[in-house]
Amino acid sequence: MTFEEFGLSDTINEAISYMGYEKATPIQEKTIPAIMQGKDIVASAQTGTGKTAAFILPVLDKIINHSKGHTSTLILAPTRELAIQIDQQVQGFAYFTDVHSIALYGGTDGAEWGQQKKSLTRGAEIIVATPGKLIAHLNMGYVKFEKIEHFILDEADRMLDIGFYEDILRIESYLPKKRQTLMFSATMPPEIRKLASRILDNPVEISTAIAKPPENILQAVYLLHEEQKIPLINRLIKDKPDYKSILIFSSTKKKVTDIVRALKKDNFNTEGISSDLEQKERQAVLLRFKSRETRILVATDVLSRGIDIQDINLVINFDVPNDAEDYVHRIGRTARAEKDGVAITFVTTSEIRDIHKIEKLIEREIIKLPPPPELGKGPEWKESKKAPSHDRFRRKHSQPGKRHRK
Ligand code: AMP
Repeated sequence: MTFEEFGLSDTINEAISYMGYEKATPIQEKTIPAIMQGKDIVASAQTGTGKTAAFILPVLDKIINHSKGHTSTLILAPTRELAIQIDQQVQGFAYFTDVHSIALYGGTDGAEWGQQKKSLTRGAEIIVATPGKLIAHLNMGYVKFEKIEHFILDEADRMLDIGFYEDILRIESYLPKKRQTLMFSATMPPEIRKLASRILDNPVEISTAIAKPPENILQAVYLLHEEQKIPLINRLIKDKPDYKSILIFSSTKKKVTDIVRALKKDNFNTEGISSDLEQKERQAVLLRFKSRETRILVATDVLSRGIDIQDINLVINFDVPNDAEDYVHRIGRTARAEKDGVAITFVTTSEIRDIHKIEKLIEREIIKLPPPPELGKGPEWKESKKAPSHDRFRRKHSQPGKRHRK
């Protein structure tokens, strides 16, 4: 389906062709007409499916046609990076219009706070915000949301994972009851359905098939002991100048710091990124990695969803992701745009069940390798009797509203 067929405004179609989009993606085909008809939507859609344009384009069209000059659209996103990325896409599509957007996210200094306050009170048509930061502004009492017509939640499951359930309800309480609400989520756990039933009105349910990792990613797992992990990274990349961009994921901030320290000691050009860094630093680190000034980036899951970094040669999962879907997100960072990529996952005995869950989700067996002999013997490939670690994680963190960060 081409974009002209949706009947969007000319200025938007112009921006779309400027972006080089030729055909609508499946999620865009399903959501754009429903949004244009004014329906509420709950959509399961993952990063890389074109979901951002799927909501921005029709909403922008409505703003151009009848809601210019006041704040009419609120978009919530789980992380600063995603908020910035959405804001940039909005500005791209709004290039030929006089619609304005601003991004509000944590970690900015006093001068920026003033700037954000100014933009908020001046009535930019679109606000993209992380829930925590928006609450801080709402508490000050100058934010006016009585004319909000579109309320959009992007990566809703991730927002609940972070513990934003109560914050989202609080923000929602400031919005008019008569509005259009659009919720996008990669997964649909029960808490998401619960939230949907509270804040959406008779929504159209839209789903696209769960994305499988592209065929051109070579996937392998190593079963090893914790202390063999750093030596194995060394082994894997030492004589591989072709691996110009390497992304290593770890589930905790503490491990990120440890991995960076160990790899730096081995003279690898490495940086770490986690929610501990100030916003400016995070952006600078990302930029250095994107421009290939930094060869290895070690990250928590902050990066695994949503962020569009192209051409990563190798993704290493230092530990098995908590959710099988996170595995797909993490390794989806490599092999973009038809290029081949390699994704390697380190597995300790207690994580073997998690790997089987992943194999079930992606409907494919992943090649299993022992550590190379010079690193010593690895453990036996035997499932532990304990519950899989992500089940334990879920149990521990499943109370909505309880804030936690990995
Ligand atoms: P998203 O799933 O929104 O993160 O989008 C992933 C990437 O696909 C972004 O770089 C978009 O610019 C791009 N994209 C979105 N829609 C289209 C389309 N219809 N044709 C080509 N690229 C697209």
